[in-house]
Amino acid sequence: MTGRGWKSYAAVAAVAIGLYQLVPADGWWVSGWQMAVGYLGVAGILLGAHRLPRRDRLPWWFFAFGVGANVTGIPVSIYCQEAFGWITLPSPADPLFLLLYPACAAGLVVLIRRREPRGNWTALVDIATITTGVGLLAWVYVIKPVAVGQDIDIFGRAVQAAYPIGDLLLLALLSRLLRGGGSRGAPFWWITGSLGAFLVGDLAWVLIGDLGDVGAALESVRWLHRSIDMVFLVAFVLFGIGAQHAGAKDLSAPGLPRPVRLGRLQLALLTAASLTAPGLLAVQLYQGRVTDGAAIVFCCSAMFLLVVVRMVQLVREIERQAARVAELARLDELTGLPNRRAWNDELPRALDFARRGGRPVSVAVLDLDMFKRYNDAYGHPAGDRLLKEAAAAWHSALRKVDLLARYGGEEFVVLLPDAGPDEARDVLDRALRATPSGQTFSAGVAVWDQAESADELIQRADEALYQAKAAGRNRITAARGEPHAVPPPRR
Ligand code: GH3
Ligand code: MG
Ligand code: MG
Repeated sequence: MTGRGWKSYAAVAAVAIGLYQLVPADGWWVSGWQMAVGYLGVAGILLGAHRLPRRDRLPWWFFAFGVGANVTGIPVSIYCQEAFGWITLPSPADPLFLLLYPACAAGLVVLIRRREPRGNWTALVDIATITTGVGLLAWVYVIKPVAVGQDIDIFGRAVQAAYPIGDLLLLALLSRLLRGGGSRGAPFWWITGSLGAFLVGDLAWVLIGDLGDVGAALESVRWLHRSIDMVFLVAFVLFGIGAQHAGAKDLSAPGLPRPVRLGRLQLALLTAASLTAPGLLAVQLYQGRVTDGAAIVFCCSAMFLLVVVRMVQLVREIERQAARVAELARLDELTGLPNRRAWNDELPRALDFARRGGRPVSVAVLDLDMFKRYNDAYGHPAGDRLLKEAAAAWHSALRKVDLLARYGGEEFVVLLPDAGPDEARDVLDRALRATPSGQTFSAGVAVWDQAESADELIQRADEALYQAKAAGRNRITAARGEPHAVPPPRR
């Protein structure tokens, strides 16, 4: 839809909702107006869904079904009242009203799964924690009172309790949607706004209901009553606007999970949720009677388990990241070979191993010939490519036990365990011939004398490399047999 399409729709809806305050105080007028706005919402959703690719329509169909059923409950309810004087619970309208919850929940589940096909366990644990806290309060202050405290039959009480339970379900899924990954264009926020409006509307009725006589007085204030109705009307059409927005096509697209980060708000919510049960216990102790001991015990236990699971998740994540960082710190980014740091760790270890086994070990230093010229001729990116390809080619030409590392720039080092001078030369010859793009390298190779330090060994190989360059490049030169007897004077 064009930008203007959804804006016109939103404008019409806004006017219709605004005019609701002026509708005559007649049951049929009022519910007729609500129906008109509600079906406008449903039509908006279906229209928007129709424009989406087939595979992206399912969540919207669920939303349309839920909102449609809810809106259809309005005339049924008024008909039961007007025609039969049916005002007790449950009325035939309740199943229709209630269908909103499972249908929207199903739509949200589909959306969440599509936006994060690989799941997101930390988000799930966070949301379970918050829902457990809110759930305890909802149970104690809303669900239990309606479920046990009234003189209507068990079926009526169950139906009445189903509303706050549905709200809780939507709240959990909405929080999960907000906590998860995926695109956050305008439709994301329209849907969030819509579901948020349903929850706010329901909460308003709960609060008014809890105020007793004051609540009853408030309920009869026409503009207030209608304002709360308008919250639901807004909820109906926000869905329609979201569906018609051009960004709706991105809503189901898989996105990266949001990084595991504990923001301040999230921390505050988790803390508040964790303290709900002890807080409630404190309140009831203060009031002199613990009426919800079982619920508090259940909630505390669930909370402890969730916190432990979350802790395990965080520790695992840190361990994974630490291992990854350690791995990255030892790899050369361009070639993927071990870098100088890894080499510096490996070489003394290899010498130690050779010493204990009395085995030979050789070390070579390789340097690409005339690489500067190559870079100048073909460009730096081509030079990078050559480095990568050469590294791969040499790696394949070497024996499995050999360790090839990037020492820096176009300089590489090779550790050749169990290789004396001849074997080392053979292996390096193979590598030299494998150098890609017609390029060559020069190398100096030194056999460890079983006594010198790693630095001394490298220095001998380096000197041999220098000789190989001086002798015309494209060759492998053996280092002189002896290490430096006297280290160079220090300054
Ligand atoms: P020689 O045969 O004497 O070794 O000549 P050379 O040109 O290979 O040696 P020189 O030291 O004069 O130049 C090395 C060049 O390697 C210069 C530098 O720009 C290039 N180089 C170093 N690291 C990289 C890299 O990561 N990527 C690319 N593309 N070039 C690099
Ligand atoms: Mg060099
Ligand atoms: Mg070079």
